[in-house]
Amino acid sequence: MRVVSSFSEARSAATEAYHRSNGGEGLAAIGLVPTMGFLHEGHLSLISRARRECRVVTMSHYVNPRQFNVSSDFDRYPRSFERDSQLAAEAGVDVLFAPPTSEMYEPTESTSIRPGRVARTMEGAGRPGHFEGVALVVAKLLAGLGAQRAYFGRKDAQQLTMIRRMARDLRFPIEIVGCPTIRESDGLALSSRNVLMSAQEREAALDISRGLWAAALAAEGGERSAEDLCHAVTAGGDGVAWEYVELADQDDASLLDALDRPSFLAAAASVGEVRLIDNVFFDMGGGHLAVDRGILLQSPSLLYR
Ligand code: AMP
Repeated sequence: MRVVSSFSEARSAATEAYHRSNGGEGLAAIGLVPTMGFLHEGHLSLISRARRECRVVTMSHYVNPRQFNVSSDFDRYPRSFERDSQLAAEAGVDVLFAPPTSEMYEPTESTSIRPGRVARTMEGAGRPGHFEGVALVVAKLLAGLGAQRAYFGRKDAQQLTMIRRMARDLRFPIEIVGCPTIRESDGLALSSRNVLMSAQEREAALDISRGLWAAALAAEGGERSAEDLCHAVTAGGDGVAWEYVELADQDDASLLDALDRPSFLAAAASVGEVRLIDNVFFDMGGGHLAVDRGILLQSPSLLYR
């Protein structure tokens, strides 16, 4: 694995890795996995999907200050580059792109991206500037690293919708691939922020996944009212401070009254100082509802090693 800190080095390292790789009939040339580091099995699942589908895997590692609307959240975000580079190498990453902020942003730059409608609800409403920050950094990565496919988690459902829309609107020649949420064995969605919680806070945080699963069960039983599904999420637990629970369209993140199309039921809640988001996806195959609750780990996450 090559560790590089500039866009141009990342592109040449990926091209060299491509020429060294052999075979790969039907594989994409370069797959990109954008991350903010402090890797867990959620990130590793994106890497392994990219590994299966692409000849070269580039992972970016950058804690993007522009997407944190609260500076204390940025300061507290867990970081450990050595740990991450070892995990990335073991997982089969070819190029680890870890830029300093001066490589990502120039003091003189003036372009911004407004994601518009898809970014007005839920996370967009509660975190002013967040999606503008995500859009700008992701656009730079999509434009600057030469990948044909980029892998993102369904864990950040609205972010995935926003990125798909942006890549389509700006005609990026790149396929956006959404991957299932990986969960700890008790259901808690994996997040680098999980390490910031005490054991009691972690226990309280389980209200979120339990609530979403209760709602998913109700949907499988025929419930279609968004209001009732959202109520099913919060009914079970008051161990967390709920910020929002909404049913949203997968296509444009608009809020829905009824479960009548591909959508996701998303929740945000805080436990102490830690803000968490989670969701379940509702897919419609041949008119039938299929719930994607994500994938449970069988053993404790590497986050706690
Ligand atoms: P982050 O480092 O949190 O910005 O996340 C980098 C990528 O990993 C994003 O596409 C996330 O959606 C994805 N991701 C984060 N947590 C999970 C998870 N538990 N399961 C699947 N993907 C995840």
